[in-house]
Amino acid sequence: MRILIMGAGVVGTTTAYYLAKDGHEVTVVDRQPDAAMETSFQNAGLLAVAHAFAWASPRSPKILLRSLWDKNASLIFRLNLDPRMYLWSLQFLRNCTAERFKVNTLRKLRICKYSQAMMDELRRDISLEFDDLKKGLLYAFRDETHMRQAAAAAKFLTDNGVKVELKTRDEVVRIEPAFAPVKEKYVGALYCPTDESGDARVWTRKLAELSRGMGTKFVYGAAVRGLRADGAKIEAVVTDKGEMTADCYILSLGSFSPEIARSVGVRLPIYPIKGYTASFPCRDGQLTPEVGGVDEDLLVAWAKFGNTFRVGGKAEFAGYSTAFKPADFTAILATAKEMFPDACDWHAPPDYWACLRPMTPDGPPIFGTAKYANLHINTGHGHIGWTMACGSARICADLVQGRKPAIDMEGLTLDGGRY
Ligand SMILES: Cc1cc2nc3c(=O)[nH]c(=O)nc-3n(C[C@H](O)[C@H](O)[C@H](O)COP(=O)(O)OP(=O)(O)OC[C@H]3O[C@@H](n4cnc5c(N)ncnc54)[C@H](O)[C@@H]3O)c2cc1C
Repeated sequence: MRILIMGAGVVGTTTAYYLAKDGHEVTVVDRQPDAAMETSFQNAGLLAVAHAFAWASPRSPKILLRSLWDKNASLIFRLNLDPRMYLWSLQFLRNCTAERFKVNTLRKLRICKYSQAMMDELRRDISLEFDDLKKGLLYAFRDETHMRQAAAAAKFLTDNGVKVELKTRDEVVRIEPAFAPVKEKYVGALYCPTDESGDARVWTRKLAELSRGMGTKFVYGAAVRGLRADGAKIEAVVTDKGEMTADCYILSLGSFSPEIARSVGVRLPIYPIKGYTASFPCRDGQLTPEVGGVDEDLLVAWAKFGNTFRVGGKAEFAGYSTAFKPADFTAILATAKEMFPDACDWHAPPDYWACLRPMTPDGPPIFGTAKYANLHINTGHGHIGWTMACGSARICADLVQGRKPAIDMEGLTLDGGRY
């Protein structure tokens, strides 16, 4: 089958790999000059199954409200004139009940666990270096009550076979000695030994290379303007370089998927939530943490990639702009420097990045066809798109070929009144 994938981020590229391996004639189109140039370029680098929790939770409305006046909040909700944001926010709020939180988290967890299994299988098949550190991840807490609540919620994970252990601050230091100087600030952590870290951009580009070796064509520098449909079928992808045709089309444009879907009357409830990362050089002998993780109270993530230390965070409703200025990083850097003062050369010129999480209001990404039998969706991976990429790619490849995916698809497509 001739398959055209829109988007060469981690999701589109991983899907291209699986489809090429299945023997299809695959083309990937992207507006950038290479794969992984937008959100997948410089994310926090955590393969974080234990972070499968849906963002829409009973705590979220209060956090959203507080963010309206708290300038230092890690979640920044600003009023603007974009009706899409309000529509999305209403759907998000509807998902903030304890019951919806559980359902949505379990749906995400299904994909995360499957994805981890698929990634492990792939790494057994091919040797892929991507600055990966298989040392588990730490989810650290400063606040006792918050940690107890999180430990209770972690039962969703442990009941579903994910190993998560509650650690005291001394145990945290034994797992990651870089915490020693600041251990008194923390009450403890949840530790997931099977989570890991690595560079999503390196991963994506290496998979693109492998796909290319199997015949996949990557067309870069071509911006998709819309789709052309005829009755029940998509006939072509319209780009600024002309039309491209195939038997089957896959939409994996991250936060920009809804705009293109709309051109043929398909509504995808995905809205961008902006985040920031900053990377610094580190050298041997520095106390750089090798176990990545997240400060769960201040929502700052960290990870080491070879000779680079990266920190990231913030969740900002800022429309579609990926612009940034040094002041955007002030709070993240203050937390990171306080946590790990000797992790890296904090005086070196920082490598700043801002990108958009393609968030669905309930949490899980969207799969399956939409309105047209030959238009498949594989998008909306939100805050853990790399963690879900291999499973999502396998699911999408199976659906394209009319095969039943290995996991239950309940709640993961547009069917069944999900929105
Ligand atoms: C600050 C931050 C930290 C994160 N940390 C983690 C983490 O630690 N672990 C994790 O698993 N996930 C993390 N994520 C989420 C993860 O990075 C995303 O879910 C994932 O990168 C989304 O991949 P994608 O392929 O869907 O989108 P993208 O990577 O954005 O890819 C979409 C592609 O579509 C192309 N495109 C868009 N519009 C058009 C158009 N009109 N025409 C042609 N091409 C177009 C873009 O150029 C891009 O290449 C983080 C996100 C942020 C913002």
